[in-house]
Amino acid sequence: MSDRLKGKRAFVTAAAVGIGRACAVAFAREGASVFATDIDEEKLALLKQEGIAEVARLDVRDTAAVTAMAKRVGKTDILLNAAGFVHHGTVLDCSDDDWDFSFDLNVKSMHRTIRAFLPGMLEAGGGSIVNISSAAGVFKAAPNRYVYGATKAAVAALTRSVAVDYIKRVRCNCICPGTIETPSMLERAAAAGPNGRDMFVARQPMGRLGTAEEIAALAVYLASDESSFTTGVAHVIDGGWTL
Ligand code: NAD
Repeated sequence: MSDRLKGKRAFVTAAAVGIGRACAVAFAREGASVFATDIDEEKLALLKQEGIAEVARLDVRDTAAVTAMAKRVGKTDILLNAAGFVHHGTVLDCSDDDWDFSFDLNVKSMHRTIRAFLPGMLEAGGGSIVNISSAAGVFKAAPNRYVYGATKAAVAALTRSVAVDYIKRVRCNCICPGTIETPSMLERAAAAGPNGRDMFVARQPMGRLGTAEEIAALAVYLASDESSFTTGVAHVIDGGWTL
């Protein structure tokens, strides 16, 4: 631990597994007091062993619950929005319900948490918001990622809008990962057939998947004061997928 986030309070959504979890753990290792949330309470509970001070169930699709949570958590310096869902398919596979679910979980969830936590950040004199977007949708199109790509492009636009409106007081950046080895990514690979994992590795020019810890390292930088001149940017971290 090198205390890069010492004295800061961080709030993380979708922190039970994958990128959200790795970010919560990395924030705690860097000295932040972390409040980690997810709908999976069983896996959340395991975070206590990782130096995470507080954990609680939060469904980011529930506006009232998000608002109440922000009041409960109080002054927050870092908000990391990780919740997201990958819908598989083209425009013709995407029903209105599929569209609405993806936009609700991937985009409106961030609208909810930012509306709930930003006033406290402004009152306290600053803060850093980090949204997890994706290389797919922002930097390139990926097959069968129709609505997913649309939601992640919306996250990048939402990020820029918040950044410009609060330019002198609160920073807002997003991270655009390539293919990262997480539970849901492995499920998508398994669903693609026996060679599914190899297919996902093959699209990564470095010949390997990224790790959630590699994404968390960038999140620590964006959450910390080291990145104090950086806002509104979509940071691609994709092992060269978009080269
Ligand atoms: P994951 O999909 O494996 O896990 C997601 C977590 O979100 C789970 O713990 C789940 O319980 C939680 N969750 C689901 N619905 C929720 C809700 N309504 N409220 C609160 N929590 C909820 O995680 P991941 O693959 O690390 O993905 C995290 C983020 O990173 C997502 O936004 C995803 O789109 C993005 N991303 C992932 C990859 C990748 O390759 N894994 C690449 C680019 C972007």
